[in-house]
Amino acid sequence: MKIRNVTVLGSTGSIGVSTLDVIARHPDRFRVFALSASSRVEELALQCEKFHPRYAVIADETCADALRVRLKRATCDTEVLAGESALSEIAAHADTDVVMAAIVGAAGLPSSLAAARAGKTVLLANKEALVMAGQIFMNAVIENGATLSPIDSEHNAIFQSLPRNFGDGLTKVGVRKIILTASGGPFRTRSINELHDVTPDQACAHPNWVMGRKISVDSATMMNKGLEVIEAHWLFDAPAEMIEVVVHPQSIVHSMVEYLDGSVMAQLGNPDMRTPIAYGLGFPDRINAGVGTLDLAKAGKLEFVTLDAERFPCVRLAYEALRLGGTAPAVLNAANEVAVDAFLSETLSFTDIPRVIEDVLHGTAITPATTLSDIIDADCNARVAARERIARSPLQRTAAK
Ligand code: NAD
Ligand code: MG
Repeated sequence: MKIRNVTVLGSTGSIGVSTLDVIARHPDRFRVFALSASSRVEELALQCEKFHPRYAVIADETCADALRVRLKRATCDTEVLAGESALSEIAAHADTDVVMAAIVGAAGLPSSLAAARAGKTVLLANKEALVMAGQIFMNAVIENGATLSPIDSEHNAIFQSLPRNFGDGLTKVGVRKIILTASGGPFRTRSINELHDVTPDQACAHPNWVMGRKISVDSATMMNKGLEVIEAHWLFDAPAEMIEVVVHPQSIVHSMVEYLDGSVMAQLGNPDMRTPIAYGLGFPDRINAGVGTLDLAKAGKLEFVTLDAERFPCVRLAYEALRLGGTAPAVLNAANEVAVDAFLSETLSFTDIPRVIEDVLHGTAITPATTLSDIIDADCNARVAARERIARSPLQRTAAK
């Protein structure tokens, strides 16, 4: 078996760490070629000492110098590079076979796209890249013969539940609809009045998954599901009308596909991202992910509940952006990233997150998204509009915590 060189973009994050955990179980299959992090020098250094990649990329030169000193002391000969262009270089490097795209947010778009343009096997966790630039990204995959593997657990479940020839067209292969499951996040049962004062730590305390802070807040507002609707649209060429969301608090059924004959295919498993990561890494083989057996009797019941669109308006906004098309999903994504940042730094209330997104989406001229610069411009303008909007309604807590 040929050993495949894996580049992990965002290796110090939640997905990155899980990816390295799976890779470490299969030294006969995978070799870590390159790692990257934003600023966590010590964590990246420890990963370099363990996996001996050829390259490590870190965001800026100051961190790069610190990492070089640290690695020299440990006699680790990993070459340290700095900056965004270095991320795209390691993603597209001739010796990279597989790229795990696990940088969070719009920051991951250039390197994810570089991997697709270089025809790599792209394991895509960075959903924001597809939300922002879906058409451009999918064109790059097709035109350059890249292999795109969805790592988001829902999309991985859908991929596993579809026939291999789904690319012929969902209707043609007998699909009636795609059903995305949503845990409902930590505030699933809270009333709308109880949501204003929630804190970042409460929002990040997800009942089933341990994730980075941005996606944790997205799960709490349910914008994560909205982004996933757009992601499913691009991955599976599914119109908005064919994509449904159902709340499933146990996070065991990871998503479903309903066929014309009434059959519903689902993928189940413990809520552990190492399962979809191992599926993407091993495909078409099944490999050990280190995930324990699913004990359904212990789980007891699997519930399914209709989404409350009033308490969680972000899903509606995402459908709206998808239907508007053009730069609308990039605007939605940028406004969301700015609003989530403001919430995490305690300058915006939780319930103002969807208000900011809605105002920015409705206050922005939507244009066709033909080139990457159309997307980048829309992203930048929406960020400015979101910051201005946030400055007009700073956080005021109604009660002491
Ligand atoms: P995280 O915050 O834990 O990790 C993010 C990683 O990206 C870190 O390594 C960080 O150093 C790096 N990074 C952040 N900003 C960067 C920048 N400007 N330049 C370069 N690197 C940067 O996030 P996560 O939870 O691992 O999520 C990563 C991606 O995977 C997100 O797009 C998320 O939506 C998606 N995803 C995550 C999960 C999950 O369970 N964590 C599930 C599905 C999808
Ligand atoms: Mg998901």
